[in-house]
Amino acid sequence: MINIENLHKKFGENEVLKGIDLNVESGEVVVIIGPSGSGKSTFLRCLNLLEQPTEGTILFEGNDLLAKENNIDQLRQKMGMVFQSFNLFPHMKVLENVTISPIKVKGQSSDEANKKAYELLDLVGLTDKAESYPASLSGGQEQRVAIARALAMDPDVMLFDEPTSALDPEMVGEVLSVMKTLAKEGMTMIVVSHEMGFAKEVADRVIFMDDGVVQEEGQPEDIFDHPKNERTQNFLKKVL
Ligand code: ADP
Ligand code: MG
Repeated sequence: MINIENLHKKFGENEVLKGIDLNVESGEVVVIIGPSGSGKSTFLRCLNLLEQPTEGTILFEGNDLLAKENNIDQLRQKMGMVFQSFNLFPHMKVLENVTISPIKVKGQSSDEANKKAYELLDLVGLTDKAESYPASLSGGQEQRVAIARALAMDPDVMLFDEPTSALDPEMVGEVLSVMKTLAKEGMTMIVVSHEMGFAKEVADRVIFMDDGVVQEEGQPEDIFDHPKNERTQNFLKKVL
């Protein structure tokens, strides 16, 4: 589904991504771990072109994302993104937050968008909050709405950038549980997270990024129980 080759990203003189290669198959759940500042967010943002890579290729379902002739907006709609901060529209009710893009961008009727939104709110356990404003929700509920909102565009892949790291500890579980459900349903997911329990249970593959490159990758049990790379070992010692 996604083929990334030799991806580089520089901010001025600062080379943050130094040649990343990664292939992600349809239905795969890839969890990316690594120290703060290692380029994980930049990598995800390059994938949906929130940042322009300086070098390399990204094929998404066979389409070259960096080719000028491809319709980036259309391809980007196929990638849902969930950030650490939820960024819901504060002046819109939960239901409108979920339906606004399908209506405005995809031209869905409000009936169609509402029907789908209720299905998604059911998936994330929030049908009773459809008519509430974001300010009345907890952080965990807001993040679940943000996931529903991303899913409303019917993406082929979901990108998560530390979706639980801004949450109070008691709310982490409810968000991870929604993500587990999505994974079980076969959603292709790339997740930056330090939730090692989640990674062990759900990831097909764990990628350890440091210093702008993939230092090590493997199945969760390889990476967590038998890391080969010294940097991986040191990182895991600090976080586990
Ligand atoms: P991580 O998500 O692994 O913590 P980031 O991708 O956020 O790492 O950041 C990696 C490096 O890129 C950091 O040194 C950061 O300062 C730099 N960086 C990220 N975004 C920008 C930007 N928009 N402009 C300049 N430097 C940036
Ligand atoms: Mg980050």
